[in-house]
Amino acid sequence: MVSSTQPVLNDQYDVVVIGGGPAGAATGALLAEYGHSVLVLERSQFPRFHVGESLIPETFWSLKRLGLVDWLRASANPRKFSVQFFSDGHRASRPFYFDEYKQCESSQTWQVWRDEFDQRVLERAAELGATVHTDAAVLDVLFDGDVATGVRVRITDSDGSKSDREIASRVVVDASGQSAFLASRLGLKDVDPWLQKGSIWNYFENARRDEGERDEGATLILQTADKKSWFWFIPLKDNVTSIGCTGSMSYMFPKGAKPEETFERELARCPELVERLGNARALHDFHTTKDYSYYSRDGAGPGWLLVGDAFGFIDPVYSSGVFLALKSAELAADAVHAAFEQDDLSTDALGGWQVQHREAVTLFRKLVFAFYNPDFSIGSFLKMHPQFRSNITDILIGDVYRPEVGEVFEVMGDVTPPSDRQTADTSA
Ligand SMILES: Cc1cc2nc3c(=O)[nH]c(=O)nc-3n(C[C@H](O)[C@H](O)[C@H](O)COP(=O)(O)OP(=O)(O)OC[C@H]3O[C@@H](n4cnc5c(N)ncnc54)[C@H](O)[C@@H]3O)c2cc1C
Repeated sequence: MVSSTQPVLNDQYDVVVIGGGPAGAATGALLAEYGHSVLVLERSQFPRFHVGESLIPETFWSLKRLGLVDWLRASANPRKFSVQFFSDGHRASRPFYFDEYKQCESSQTWQVWRDEFDQRVLERAAELGATVHTDAAVLDVLFDGDVATGVRVRITDSDGSKSDREIASRVVVDASGQSAFLASRLGLKDVDPWLQKGSIWNYFENARRDEGERDEGATLILQTADKKSWFWFIPLKDNVTSIGCTGSMSYMFPKGAKPEETFERELARCPELVERLGNARALHDFHTTKDYSYYSRDGAGPGWLLVGDAFGFIDPVYSSGVFLALKSAELAADAVHAAFEQDDLSTDALGGWQVQHREAVTLFRKLVFAFYNPDFSIGSFLKMHPQFRSNITDILIGDVYRPEVGEVFEVMGDVTPPSDRQTADTSA
């Protein structure tokens, strides 16, 4: 349990982690497991709501290292064996079954409620020895010259009283998600000029999902007629399905339109989903988010580094976010541990792993570009080049830390979609 009684904090730790989402919790868990003193500061109370319920298969290895696979196996979360794409609002592709290409224990994954999932990962950090303080908002990162030396944090006590304090640390890990706390503060955040997207979503009871163990938990990605938007369809437990629509910001949020009106407008252009929602009802008010695609120019400096969304986020379409959050946490924890061993907290020592990580992210990003390019169809490409089905599946499952997977893009060519923003700098 993430304790409702908050811990007493020391004045100094080896590592302070900003944010207790999957990236921060996993970094904290693994560094505590190495034996370092770690403080994870999370501004919310947990469990807290979060979008992003669909995992991809390669998440398995991080979850295994964290000791969370048995918990997921015992859970009622739907098992996900495939992802299936629909074009023009109704034309179904052959599902990408993960085990068709690679049969191993990671060939199946889960669809999770993020409040429960994230809470369990944060609990795991505490179990492995990290000090976890929720209701603790980091206000500033402290620097001595360009070297990060700790944080200033505002703590809310159980009686509601607030106090600010400074906590020193040898390393500060920013895992603050879309807040991108350090990247924003240091002016390092670059928005993606080609991916200026926004999403509107809700949770529906009784949406029709496919039948059978292998298909009932599948993620569906449904493009609307003329590809101006697409829907995700993520089956969750208790017969609830997360359904969200994504398109360019200007298209999704026209002046004066309510989110539910835009959702209905797009739904009408997606007959497959209209049919699946025939007997369904929305459980909440519609949620919205936008302008979430960015990357930090630098991901590390002396005494600090970025992980998860705080480093960057591509796009929701291939459900890569939690995978990249956990994977970057693993790579970061190993690097910080090695840096402590060598007593070298330089930029290179803390952030050397990010070169390979950025290359892996680039593979997802290129496939995202292909998805948003109205003149490109993965189905047609694979008909012409069936030998690359395995490379595409590699990316969909998250097996992206092997450069040879990117060979598919040499054949695919430049599939950069038209920019969502008139002012996009084409040289970026
Ligand atoms: C529309 C949409 C759909 C998505 N769908 C999926 C999906 O299906 N599958 C998937 O894998 N990913 C999905 N994602 C992405 C995924 O949700 C994120 O990539 C993932 O949550 C990143 O984890 P994180 O730990 O880096 O950040 P987060 O999970 O956002 O955690 C960051 C934490 O930091 C805390 N924090 C922020 N600032 C401070 C501060 N100053 N002090 C202390 N704490 C702070 C926040 O409260 C938060 O708990 C989606 C994203 C979007 C936008």
